[in-house]
Amino acid sequence: MRQNEELRAAAVRFLCLCMEHSDVIILGTGAAGMTAALAAHDAGAQVTLLERGERIGGTSAVSGGVIWIADNLAMRAAGMADSREDALAYFYALDHGDLKAETLTAFIDNGPEALAFLDRQGAIKLSCLAGYPDYYLDRPGARPDGGRALDHDLFSFHELGNWASRIYAGDELKPMMLRETPLGGGTGVVPPEEMQRRIANDERGFGQAMVGRLLKACLDRGIEPLFDVATERLVIEDGRVAGIAGTHSGAPFALRARRGVIIATGGFEWDADLRQTFLRGPVDAPASPPTARGEGLSLAMRAGAKLGNMTSAWWAPTLAPTTSKWAGGEQRASPLLIERTVPHSLMVNRKGERFCNEAANYSALAGAFHQFDPQSYDYLNLPAWLVFDGQYRARYPIDTVMPGDPLPAWIKTGPTLSELAEKIDVPAGTLAATIARFNQLAEQGFDPDFARGTSPYDHFYGDRSRQGAFMTLGPLTEGPYFAVQVHMGMLGTNGGPQTDGAARILDHAGTPIPGLFGAGNAIASPTGGVYAGAGGTLGPAITFGFIAGRSAAQGG
Ligand SMILES: Cc1cc2nc3c(=O)[nH]c(=O)nc-3n(C[C@H](O)[C@H](O)[C@H](O)COP(=O)(O)OP(=O)(O)OC[C@H]3O[C@@H](n4cnc5c(N)ncnc54)[C@H](O)[C@@H]3O)c2cc1C
Repeated sequence: MRQNEELRAAAVRFLCLCMEHSDVIILGTGAAGMTAALAAHDAGAQVTLLERGERIGGTSAVSGGVIWIADNLAMRAAGMADSREDALAYFYALDHGDLKAETLTAFIDNGPEALAFLDRQGAIKLSCLAGYPDYYLDRPGARPDGGRALDHDLFSFHELGNWASRIYAGDELKPMMLRETPLGGGTGVVPPEEMQRRIANDERGFGQAMVGRLLKACLDRGIEPLFDVATERLVIEDGRVAGIAGTHSGAPFALRARRGVIIATGGFEWDADLRQTFLRGPVDAPASPPTARGEGLSLAMRAGAKLGNMTSAWWAPTLAPTTSKWAGGEQRASPLLIERTVPHSLMVNRKGERFCNEAANYSALAGAFHQFDPQSYDYLNLPAWLVFDGQYRARYPIDTVMPGDPLPAWIKTGPTLSELAEKIDVPAGTLAATIARFNQLAEQGFDPDFARGTSPYDHFYGDRSRQGAFMTLGPLTEGPYFAVQVHMGMLGTNGGPQTDGAARILDHAGTPIPGLFGAGNAIASPTGGVYAGAGGTLGPAITFGFIAGRSAAQGG
């Protein structure tokens, strides 16, 4: 009953809106879209925030929420030195031709101010993720001791009132901060009384805290997201984007924007056609929710946008338990981090051979999954398997399966290595030889084959009760043995329309399309394909949301 009333009120509000003009229309309620809304509003624009689905937050809401910004205020407050020069040197040391100076510099230069702005608006509350190193510590400008990666303080969903139920996957309680869990270098232990307090107060961490605070700040300013809005085309008048047209809850509408439209619709990984057309290789299990369907990309292409970074993504190997589904029944996957880093596990390809440093950062590691073999004319390392032994099973979780939990069917097992090899269809002799060699290296704590355990990054997700390379290296000697398939996945795509440093979407000639702006995974990332460190996607998304909001409010 109450929901019907709410829906009716929203429909009326929407119809009224269609009769009016808006200064800035923002498509998408993720971190990029809501930051853009706040920035445009702060710059004096009347803002309309539209969401395609029924929930707020998209990938941002299910994410860890970590934000990577060089030389940020929290670092300065903690007395940690950083500089734009170091940050730029770090990126250029990782460049494979995809970095564009203008957008990269805009990200580095505006990142600290974007966070300071959100902080002033009460839209963010961050603390340093102590000790979380940048991902490429051998490059100049990298920070081995952390500081650039920032974590959200808890946020109470009670502050959102009825809106709390509109956060994407918000029914999944996350009453901890990332830094308290092994994902952020913590123990995972919170005293029971404190946990009870948090649950009673509905306090959330991770991406839920980020999206919750952003939404609260929007609502406080009268920016109420409107749902179920499908934009079919941009209205272009005299070469300028002057609004949008599409359907709202199935009914046609048109909405004018006096100053601009911001595309912040997330990536395109859930659109099979776009994925097949653009990405550099096969992807079968993205970790993002099925909200990332490339609608913003299609709108921008139709408006004549120049595309960039299209073969790339925020890659990550994933686990895709057959029992794990999104609300709409789509396969759900989660990034594979700890399981491939702790001792007593390794990864093998279809030949039963190791093929990488299993503990490397997910973004770089995923490159190995797209290694193409000219001899067999196939992807050498797909399918891949994480193999582990009884010692692992007794000590560490695998996805949500804890030691002692019953074994689900998606985890294959065999009392011996050869029986396991048969179940996962890899040559038993090769698997046995691979594991014998790995065991030798693990015993000595030195992996000359793939250098696992040499970088401090490799230790971050390792077993902190051990020392040095042994935090990640341990032999597989105790049956039964286990295996799970490792999928080629991602956190989201990072290609799309190219922008300039003011987040204006460019046409084929490199000229801004008047009135059209973009931010987040919907655009060609300002950091190209470089995933600098934890938070490497949300840092640029929030910074370009901030830039896009301000630019659009000024009319481009
Ligand atoms: C499990 C997981 C953990 C992650 N952890 C981190 C992390 O800790 N740090 C980090 O930096 N990155 C992380 N990422 C990646 C990060 O979450 C994304 O890169 C980021 O959230 C993208 O933000 P966005 O605002 O561009 O898009 P989204 O957050 O996906 O928001 C886009 C929104 O637009 C809506 N939309 C789509 N089409 C339309 C349309 N036509 N009109 C209106 N609305 C539309 C969608 O429904 C969605 O709500 C993680 C990803 C995953 C999957």
